[in-house]
Amino acid sequence: MAACVQGLFDPKLVLAYNLIQFEHGMSLPEFIQCFGTETACVDAPYRARWPAGFVCPRCGGSAHCVVGSGSRRRLQCNTSHIQRSMTAGTFFASTKLPLTTRFLAIYLLSQSKTGLSALALKRRIGVSHPTAWLMHHKVMEAMADREAAHRLVGAVEVDDAYLGGERAGGKPGRGSENKVPIADAVPLNDKGHPLYVKVTQIPGFTNDAISKWARSNLAPGTAVLSVRSGIFRGGDRGRLHAQRGNRQQSQAA
Ligand SMILES: [Zn+2]
Repeated sequence: MAACVQGLFDPKLVLAYNLIQFEHGMSLPEFIQCFGTETACVDAPYRARWPAGFVCPRCGGSAHCVVGSGSRRRLQCNTSHIQRSMTAGTFFASTKLPLTTRFLAIYLLSQSKTGLSALALKRRIGVSHPTAWLMHHKVMEAMADREAAHRLVGAVEVDDAYLGGERAGGKPGRGSENKVPIADAVPLNDKGHPLYVKVTQIPGFTNDAISKWARSNLAPGTAVLSVRSGIFRGGDRGRLHAQRGNRQQSQAA
C-alpha cells in the first residue's frame, strides 16, 4: 500500500505520475487493490501529508481523535480542537464525486502514454462531459506543475537540441530565428536504460542559462552524461565537469 500512495502523491499532495508510469507500472488490479474503496482513497492523502502521524497546523500537537466516517472523516486536535478534513487542500477536496472515481481518473490519465481526451475519460469513468473536462484539466495541470518542479536524480543523460525548422530567407542552422533551444534530459535506470525524457525550453546555451537550468532540473550529486555535446560539461558551464569512457560525465553540485 505504501508504494501505491507514494506513486500517486508527493509531499505537497499534488499528483505524481511518472513514478507509476515509468517505475512501478501499476497494473489495474494493483490499482483496484490499493484504491478500490472510499476508505482507502481517503486514507491516502492523510498518509502522504502526515507520514509520521498527524501534526496540528495550529498548535503543533499530535494528540487527536477522528470524527465522522467514510470520506467525511476529519481529524480533531485534542488541544486546540480544530478539525482538518483528510482531503483539505488537496485535489480531492470539495467534491461530490466519489473519491474512487477521482482516483480512477488520475490513474487512467497518468497511465496513458498516448494521452486520453476528456471525451474518452467521460466514457471510461461514467461522468458528464463538463465534469470529465474539468477533471482532465485539473489532473493535466497538476501533472505539468509537478513535472516542472521535479528535479532529476541519479544518472541523467543530457543533450542540447533545437525545435523548429529554418525559415525561408532566414539564417541557416542554429542561428535560425525559428529554432527554439531545448535541453533533453533522460534519467537512466540501474542498467543504464532510459526511463523517460524531460524536455525543457531554455533561452539559449549560455553559461548562465545552463546553470539556471541545472539548478532547477538536477538534484545535487546527479551524474550528468553528455553523449554528443560539450555544452553541458566544463566547470564554467554550470558546475559540470569530469569525463568517463566515451561519454562526458559531470557532477551537479
Ligand atoms: Zn492543535
